[in-house]
Amino acid sequence: MANNSAASSSSLKRKATTPARDIGIYSVQCDKCHKWREIDTQEDYEAIRSRILEVKFECNKKEGMSCAVPGSLEYDSSNIWAVDTAGLPTTPSGFKRILIHRIDYSKIDAYYETPTGEKCRTLKEVEAYLSAHPEYSYALIEEFSFKVPKMMKDTIHVKTPEPTKESV
Ligand SMILES: [Zn+2]
Repeated sequence: MANNSAASSSSLKRKATTPARDIGIYSVQCDKCHKWREIDTQEDYEAIRSRILEVKFECNKKEGMSCAVPGSLEYDSSNIWAVDTAGLPTTPSGFKRILIHRIDYSKIDAYYETPTGEKCRTLKEVEAYLSAHPEYSYALIEEFSFKVPKMMKDTIHVKTPEPTKESV
């Protein structure tokens, strides 16, 4: 991915072999050597993503990592990639941001799981939840975003099924 815009300097992707439709691997591209580095947890990834416009990611931000270490991730079709938006807020504690891609990889849908296990699929639903649960008033509506990562079509290779005998 040459010519990286700020928006695509953080990215997440999933393994094509993972049966689940959620994100398998979070990764961020080093601003210096442009290698992709795997980020272990969604929390760490979100923290990097929220600040990446001000604090560029470099390999040495990851413990034990440096630009000299060969990369283990390539932006290619061995995985399906989705590029995230830089600067999105970190999810308030107790809540979880869930990203699920459509079966045909056409797009990703986002929702938030609340501390009490409900699903919020729109900002309106989040707002309603927060006003009904003053105990979570530490969570600000600005900390929720339904901006979803963009599926990178050039990394999607969906096999068309072989025609069955009946259809020939
Ligand atoms: Zn580097």
